[in-house]
Formats: sequence, structure tokens, C-alpha cells
Amino acid sequence: MSTNQFLPLVEKIKTEGKCLEGGILKVDSFINHQIDPMMLQLMCEEFARRFSNVHVDKILTIEASGIAPAVVLGYLLKKPVVFAKKKKPSTMADMLTTEVYSFTKQKSYTVCCSKEFIKEGEDILFIDDFLANGNAAKGMIELVEKAGAKIVGMGFLVEKAFQNGGQMLEKLGHRVESLAVIESLDNCTITFKE
Ligand code: 5GP
Repeated sequence: MSTNQFLPLVEKIKTEGKCLEGGILKVDSFINHQIDPMMLQLMCEEFARRFSNVHVDKILTIEASGIAPAVVLGYLLKKPVVFAKKKKPSTMADMLTTEVYSFTKQKSYTVCCSKEFIKEGEDILFIDDFLANGNAAKGMIELVEKAGAKIVGMGFLVEKAFQNGGQMLEKLGHRVESLAVIESLDNCTITFKE
């Protein structure tokens, strides 16, 4: 787990982030609802820097909030971006599927991706907005394994360290890069990891 905080994002969270009940950080003003493209560019340049020594064929994310950072990073790295879908399209025949438990929605859902877009032998960089318990990430690892491809790195805009997803992913041997790491949201106070 990296505690290498990306200061422009830390400052933005300090000024615009809001704590909700149940350990949820709301960043609707620049990530999850309204999007700040300039901030997005800065964050993705940082991802590009941190993953510069990793070979990447494709970027994978999960809809919806991972798409914006994944596309900006894909643009910077000049690599295609695939987003796993939360609903099975009737037009998709040959699919990889997995179950993901959603922490914010407190229910499981099926995530799918066409076999056409994640192929055997490809090096995949997974990007998402938040890392909490790591359920979404675990589902994506399973999807990539089913395709016979390989996860070469996992990048998150915000990691909530008190939920242990980062530890779990690192135990599985994955390289995790989180731009802002939050130690605690107790008493509705945002505390960043030192
Ligand atoms: P995990 O699967 O790691 O438990 O949770 C990650 C997913 O849940 C992310 O893709 C994100 O959409 C959502 N999520 C988890 N925690 C938060 C949070 O504190 N704030 C927001 N906005 N989304 C969260």
C-alpha cells in the first residue's frame, strides 16, 4: 500500500469532501457527480508517473465513477479503456461475469465484460475511484483471471485504509497505488494517513 499522498487531491478533499454516516466520503463536487477535468488530469498524470515502469496493454475499470479517470489515463498512456458493465446487455454473447458486493449499496450485483475486449496474455491496469473493502477490485481480478489476462497494477483515487481493501490486495500480491489514503472518517472528521 502506498501512503505517498498526492497533495493536490488531499487539499481538494479537505476543502470539498464531506463525511456521511457509515464511513462514506462524499466527493460529488469533483469525482462522483460533477467532475473537475483539470483535477482529473492532474490525478491521472500522477497515475501515469507511478505506473511508468509497468507494461500496460489496457486499462480496465467498472462503471460508473471509474470511467472518467480511466479514460483520461488511457488518453495519457495511449491505451484502450474497457469498463465492466453492471447490467448484462442483451446484445452481448460471449461474456466474462463475476459477482461484486457493493459496500455503498449493500447488495451484490453481476458485473460483466465481453471476452472480445479482455484477452488472454494481456497486461491490465485496473483503475477505480474508491478502494474500501476491495470487493469491486476482487471481482475485477476474477474477471481478468477468467480471461487469462494479468493485472499489472491497481490504481485508486481514494483509499479508505480503515476498510482493509488495500491490505487484502497487497496480500494477493498486487501493486496498489492510491492517490489519497484516508486513515479515518470517525466523528465526521477526515484524517489522512501519515
Ligand atoms: P469496495 O468494493 O472496495 O468495498 O468499494 C469500492 C466501491 O464502492 C467504489 O467503486 C465506490 O464506487 C464505492 N465506494 C466505497 N466507499 C466509498 C466512499 O466512501 N465514497 C464513495 N463516493 N464511494 C465509495
